[in-house]
Amino acid sequence: MTISERVKNINPSQTLSITAQALKMKREGKKVISFAAGEPDFGTPENIREEAISAIREGFSHYTASSGIIELKEAIVEKLKKDNEIEYKNSEIIVSTGAKQCLFNAILTICDPGDEVLLPTPCWVSYTEQIKFAGAVPVFIITHQEEDFKLSTAQVEEKITSRTKLIILNSPNNPTGAVYDPEELKKIAQLLTKYNIYCICDEIYEKLVYNNVKHLSMASLSNEIKEKIITINGVSKSYAMTGWRIGYAAGPEEIIKGMSKIQGHSTSNPNSIAQKASVEALSGKQDTIEEMRKAFDERRKYTIKRLNEIEGISCLTPAGAFYAFPNVNKILERGIEYNGKKISNSFDLSNFILKEAEVALIPGSAFEAEGYLRLSYAASLEDIKEGLDRIEKILRF
Ligand code: PMP
Ligand code: GLU
Repeated sequence: MTISERVKNINPSQTLSITAQALKMKREGKKVISFAAGEPDFGTPENIREEAISAIREGFSHYTASSGIIELKEAIVEKLKKDNEIEYKNSEIIVSTGAKQCLFNAILTICDPGDEVLLPTPCWVSYTEQIKFAGAVPVFIITHQEEDFKLSTAQVEEKITSRTKLIILNSPNNPTGAVYDPEELKKIAQLLTKYNIYCICDEIYEKLVYNNVKHLSMASLSNEIKEKIITINGVSKSYAMTGWRIGYAAGPEEIIKGMSKIQGHSTSNPNSIAQKASVEALSGKQDTIEEMRKAFDERRKYTIKRLNEIEGISCLTPAGAFYAFPNVNKILERGIEYNGKKISNSFDLSNFILKEAEVALIPGSAFEAEGYLRLSYAASLEDIKEGLDRIEKILRF
């Protein structure tokens, strides 16, 4: 069998594979608790489901414009104006099969082989592999727990070379929950214009912020900076619509055109019914977002408190998203014996917790950050309690 070098070079998505492993164990009758998948445990709101049913009844089942229906682009333009204070035209919008496809299209459109992409770590699993897929080079910028996992401009400047094309900024961040404030964003924005670098702002968790923290879109800072930014978002997290697969990007027309060309030859339009439902998601009543956010906030507080009570764990309180990212270095240093060898990395530790406590979580190494674990607290409080009890028990000295 001949597998291309390109594919050989790509790692599978660990968030998806560990989630699948947990599901398989559940099907085998094991009482697995999963903190692996980053997806709301709530159902899609009723008004959105109804809209999809109407679309099916009305026979809205043909190909649509490859980059998305006008109605949805208009709803996105309106949303970006109202929520994010950014003015875009329909021609500056593309709708794709999830924010994941928007990211893929954007990276492929901007980067040539050999170009460098600045990637603050810890970072979401798919950025690194998508950059490699484009033949570009991920240049990691390590952020630290002591600095709330946030970048300094000095760190960015240090990594810029003549090949630097792009930086990917994800605020609120998966997996750390870090949220950049306006001053921090302004400083990074100044570097983008100074060095002529594009920025993908992945804002998929924008609605999930806590303690009066506010999300700000970098593209809203000025018209000059807007020219360097591709804002990416979607309905997966804010409207509990992960399976519907609708994401969108807004940016300079030339880049959006490039992304549309790729999409036109790969997947064509995103699902027609899901596009109709997404119009309702963005333009209909918004009250379910706050209900979900409040529930996540309660779980966040409980999860962080419990994690910090476990000897050997220290966990920052995340300002956004729905992940806890505990530092487990002290536990790794302890070297728990398992299957005749000492556990010394996050992958083996998460495997040990999955097999012995039947709790699924993701190793920090999947996010380019050894020494950590990621727990999604988008699960019921009951499951969170039970899961943390099991983790505490198995990690006890
Ligand atoms: N960006 C980040 C940071 C994510 O965590 C995810 C995972 N859902 C995505 C993008 C992709 O989201 P989707 O494709 O479901 O819109
Ligand atoms: N983004 C979510 C996560 O980080 C869903 C899985 C994925 O697409 O990676 O778990």
